[in-house]
Amino acid sequence: MSLDDLYMEMILDHYRNPRNRSSDLDGHDVHVHHSNPLCGDELDLRLRVADDTVDAVVYDGEGCSISMASASVMTQAVTGRDLADADDLTECFRLMLHGEGIKREEDLGDGVAFQGVAKFPVRVKCALLGWMALKDAITTYREGGAEHRVTHE
Ligand code: ZN
Repeated sequence: MSLDDLYMEMILDHYRNPRNRSSDLDGHDVHVHHSNPLCGDELDLRLRVADDTVDAVVYDGEGCSISMASASVMTQAVTGRDLADADDLTECFRLMLHGEGIKREEDLGDGVAFQGVAKFPVRVKCALLGWMALKDAITTYREGGAEHRVTHE
């Protein structure tokens, strides 16, 4: 099995067996909705914060396998991290998708499976959808924990 095949298997596994996929989260502090009109991906993300740490994060939505699997991976990678750390990891994931190398490979977990997506610019927004929703949710929390909706383009 080639590395590309292995990564594809990891992505499909998250798509078929999503982690932390839910349309609700008890006591969540922030709810954001992001979409990727280029592909038609829609994603809701709910974040609960405790002690400046990602206590829980769930996502729900409709979209391509890349967008949904990436959100699943994101929830696993950031749960339990403090907000600054989760933000930093999100930036590492973003840079990887822009072909700028892989930092914090271990912390990205199954996120490394998406490195090949960098070769397909049209899919980069799919892979980033959940992570950008998280980044937005963290920013929103810091600004006072509101509930809002945005479109990611
Ligand atoms: Zn997509």
